[in-house]
Amino acid sequence: MLSAQEGMHLNKGLAAGIRTIGFRRWYQRELLSGHAHLVLLLLAVVGVMGCLEVMPTLTAAERLLYGCYVLACAAIGVWALRRYLYLLMRAEAIANQANCPRCGAYGRLRLAQGPHRSGVTRVQCRGCAHEWDIEE
Ligand SMILES: [Zn+2]
Repeated sequence: MLSAQEGMHLNKGLAAGIRTIGFRRWYQRELLSGHAHLVLLLLAVVGVMGCLEVMPTLTAAERLLYGCYVLACAAIGVWALRRYLYLLMRAEAIANQANCPRCGAYGRLRLAQGPHRSGVTRVQCRGCAHEWDIEE
């Protein structure tokens, strides 16, 4: 059921999330995960600044080593920033589709039966049983 893209990262896809923990908890975890990447980004920035600060006091060989630390921290930081933005924008886009079009209930949904296209999850309102698609 999981697509290859969903399997590539730790975060559950929407359909798997609704099935196992429910929409609201899935959404909260997406936000938490996004903010964890923001914390990682801040740590990477602190790492880069720390290396640059001690750089003038180092020997040439040590500078090479610390240069590698800086590159590693910068790479982690860029990755964390991209992941943070991706997770938050996706959570936002999905949350905007979580209102039932018929009765307006927010997030009260379950997985609906029906065709599962890639990136599209068919859901059903727990209140009025209306079905609609959420696109990721
Ligand atoms: Zn409804």
